[in-house]
Amino acid sequence: MCIRTEAAPAALILPWDPSRHVITVPQGVPPEAALIGVRAVLTELAIPQPSAGARCWCGAAVELPRVPNRQEDEVIHRAS
Ligand SMILES: [Zn+2]
Repeated sequence: MCIRTEAAPAALILPWDPSRHVITVPQGVPPEAALIGVRAVLTELAIPQPSAGARCWCGAAVELPRVPNRQEDEVIHRAS
């Protein structure tokens, strides 16, 4: 099973979920910062990392979480 990434609010982060093979990065961080975090977790897992990008243990590229473009303000206002 390949490693995937997800974004979540910082307070809810479990950096590495071994049961789901998911690396979680904080929501709203720039892609470069997310990549650094993902590479750090992969290195912790003893997976050799290339000079750029991030690799799964099978050699496939690990994609960073998609940053949603949609404004969340509407949801927040509706809840209050
Ligand atoms: Zn893989």
